[in-house]
Amino acid sequence: MVVRIIALSMVAEVCSIYLRRANGEMEFFATEGLDDKAVHVTRMKPGEGLVGEIMKQGRPLNLADAPAHPAFSYRPETGEDPYHAFLGVPLLRGGRAIGVLVVQNRTERTYTEDEVEDLQIVAMVLAEMVASGELISVEDLDGVELSPKRPERLIGSKFAEGLAYGVVVLHEPPVASSQLLSDDVAAEEQRLANALAALKAQIDQMLEGQHGLVDASYDVLESYRMFAHSTGWNRNLEDAVKNGLTAEAAVERVRSEHRARLGQARDPYLRERLHDLEDLNDRLLRHLAGAGSVARELPANAVLIARNLGPADLLEYDRTKLRGLLLEEGSSASHAAIVARALDIPCVGRLQGLRDRVNEGDPVIVDAETGEAYLRPRPDVVKAIQARIDVRRQRQAEFAKLKDTPAFTRDGVKVTLLMNAGLDVDLESLADTGAEGIGLFRTEFQFMVSEEMPRLTAQTDLYARVMDAAAGLPVTFRTLDLGGDKVLPYMEAEREDNPALGWRAIRMGLDRPALLRLQLRALIAASLGRPLRIMFPLVANVDEFRAARALVETEVAWAQRRGRPAPSRLDVGAMIEAPSLIWHLDALLPMTDFVSVGTNDLMQYLFAADRGNPRVADRYDPLSPPALRALEAIQRACAETGTPVSVCGEMAGRPLEAFALVALGFERLSMPPAGIGPVKQMVLGCDREAARRGVSALLKSGAGSVRNEIETLARRLYVAV
Ligand code: PEP
Ligand code: MG
Repeated sequence: MVVRIIALSMVAEVCSIYLRRANGEMEFFATEGLDDKAVHVTRMKPGEGLVGEIMKQGRPLNLADAPAHPAFSYRPETGEDPYHAFLGVPLLRGGRAIGVLVVQNRTERTYTEDEVEDLQIVAMVLAEMVASGELISVEDLDGVELSPKRPERLIGSKFAEGLAYGVVVLHEPPVASSQLLSDDVAAEEQRLANALAALKAQIDQMLEGQHGLVDASYDVLESYRMFAHSTGWNRNLEDAVKNGLTAEAAVERVRSEHRARLGQARDPYLRERLHDLEDLNDRLLRHLAGAGSVARELPANAVLIARNLGPADLLEYDRTKLRGLLLEEGSSASHAAIVARALDIPCVGRLQGLRDRVNEGDPVIVDAETGEAYLRPRPDVVKAIQARIDVRRQRQAEFAKLKDTPAFTRDGVKVTLLMNAGLDVDLESLADTGAEGIGLFRTEFQFMVSEEMPRLTAQTDLYARVMDAAAGLPVTFRTLDLGGDKVLPYMEAEREDNPALGWRAIRMGLDRPALLRLQLRALIAASLGRPLRIMFPLVANVDEFRAARALVETEVAWAQRRGRPAPSRLDVGAMIEAPSLIWHLDALLPMTDFVSVGTNDLMQYLFAADRGNPRVADRYDPLSPPALRALEAIQRACAETGTPVSVCGEMAGRPLEAFALVALGFERLSMPPAGIGPVKQMVLGCDREAARRGVSALLKSGAGSVRNEIETLARRLYVAV
């Protein structure tokens, strides 16, 4: 009946529907005009014929003489010989083609733009009707792939450790299909026009309100603006509304087409543009909905799925219900990853094609130990993951029992275990883990998760909250470590070819002292007569440290002149992250009150391997003679001068690496909160003297990595690593 109505209204002699089966074949599903006997019998291989072509391209095919087209596949049983004119449009759902709607006519002619537009709207309504089961009974649809149903495993990168099993919640899900058609076209046109105007104004304001945006962000905004104002996009939306769709449905239709078309583009530039468009569409939908928050009510075991998340997005969800996070894009240094780690939410990112492969409510596994996602997992996989989740929980319970046990090695060496933090939410971990303080507070996180530059009072408030929460335990505040991979949309920076080697951290701080001084002022104000520890990132030469220290003293004097309480004790330290300092420790150490080794950066510079590039990040092993010798040199020099030294890179939080560090003589380790339990267990089982002897012998090894040897050593000493 439906194909008959469509044929009639389009003045076509033929109208047919093809639907995609789970094996990818296209089934001839209904027809008016072709031979009924072929219905449910004729099947086209994936990619076969004009129908296959439309599925592949995700866009209409409008041909005056179909049989002359090279992709035409002749199927005698359908009786399509006499028909020349052919118009086929994909049935799109959530960016996937689930079938094809075709009209045909005898005479050779090209269909008009209006006809193409009309058929696309019919196809959109049809796709929703098919998917909702309104049109075709569930039994008939058996095996038709309306949405992804098969189990799939995707491989990505782990952004935040852990395991989770839950149900898919799509960040900003597609609008409900129930309001596809509008009752009042004029009113709908007005709604769309208003939303588009609001969107354009918002983007213009974002661009104009910011003097000196970062280049890259400026480019993105500029391309948003270009799209927002592009007549093509606007006209497509307006046409869809004119033809009777609601504004939301129009957005979805245009979006589906773009996705289907650009989604297959290999060209990275085009793919980038698609992301811009996605974001723009989401923004427009939000304007149509009258703005409002992106977050919503979650099921009890939600796994959030998004292409990427903005700075504050994750914080808007109810974290008591959020079990895991899967991202199609991102990097482990992205905002979402940072916040996920802080909230202890397992997160896997860089999962290609994720968003189009899941449906809201699908069961899903986040394996952030291996960096994988299982969509609609089979029962045996679920069982295995549940067993692993149980083991993890038991181990965590064991670590929790050790919370108040001081970390002494078996031969009586006290190892101080501190935690790394950067956000308010991290502070809860202080009590949970039994950390003896915060060895690294990354102050730039506050800047990274804000939409605008945090003011003096906002900075002061945060630092005071941190010191309050630490309740007398030491907190080492690291001054802003921005630049490199940590760019802010609202701050001026030039595009650099090698950002990791560029204008970042203390370099930026010293060249633009206003920002650094503001931060120092906030730290001093927050200390309110309490002890204060300040540390500077990425010092590469001693003059930089000298200059930075002078700024601290200037700010203390400034506070004192105004009669404000100075810190009761002030310790100023340097991070050792640039290899250059290793050969100038004799000059550096006497100037510092303490140092902390940032092994993440130190290893990156030592091995010339970008820590953020998955191809090379794990290529070189910190458990190798050159890296261990560098660490040993630092530890020795500190011991000789009596300079307190800690290690605060990620390696301090991994038991085997921490074992090597303890063996080298380090007695202060600062790490992500989740590392404290496992590292404490290692320390409690460790004989430092035996470890020292074993590891120092391995320093002379000619191997590129001594990881296996260190592991054997640790096992021989009965250390839990
Ligand atoms: C480091 O480089 O090791 C470090 C602790 O600092 P970040 O990871 O913030 O660069
Ligand atoms: Mg660093």
